[in-house]
Amino acid sequence: MTLKTAFRRPVTAQYPEPNKRLPIALRYKGFPALMWDGEVNEPYCTGCMVCVRACPTQCMTAEMKDNPFFTDEKSRRRKIIDVFEINLGRCILCAICVDVCNFDAIEMSHVHELSKYQRNDNRVVLSQLLDMGKSYQSEIGWSPSQPEKNSGVPVKKEEGAKPTRQRTTKRPQADSAADAPSTPTTPAQTTTHGESATGDQA
Ligand code: SF4
Ligand code: SF4
Repeated sequence: MTLKTAFRRPVTAQYPEPNKRLPIALRYKGFPALMWDGEVNEPYCTGCMVCVRACPTQCMTAEMKDNPFFTDEKSRRRKIIDVFEINLGRCILCAICVDVCNFDAIEMSHVHELSKYQRNDNRVVLSQLLDMGKSYQSEIGWSPSQPEKNSGVPVKKEEGAKPTRQRTTKRPQADSAADAPSTPTTPAQTTTHGESATGDQA
């Protein structure tokens, strides 16, 4: 040790002293968190399962439901997330879930301290993921990358506007039951990883 280094302030921090922590860079990627749409008071996530299928460690589970806000015309998301779980103990922080999400619904937050005594104690559910997301949103002043597409605020119909699709000719009657258009089946809504279930997206 030289005289110069003896009087220099330490460059390391005393862990876990809260007031001696080093600041986290804005670009820091911690564990994934779900974003909250404050304009309509619901998550951005529709439970579409794209991230669940893409996750290389298969640590995510999602389940969607019909959105009651859509029925009440308070949101334009037809489907909304009902159950979401990530086993953060198996997450490798690859951010593939963020890259594949089309709804601005998931981001890599600044959460990084999750030491636990049990292997599966880092399973986090929807409410925890949303809390992580809300903290992250207020920390960095987050806004969606595609607000026009992904905002849940319902689009108001202009008065006197004509419907976009109008049938000009009458469709011929089906001759038999075989010619009649089939009734669409209801897509499976319970969607856990590894199942081949498909879901309607908002
Ligand atoms: S891809 Fe996005 S919207 Fe779909 S389930 Fe994952 S977080 Fe939700
Ligand atoms: S960051 Fe990677 S490993 Fe972690 S939940 Fe997302 S896709 Fe899965």
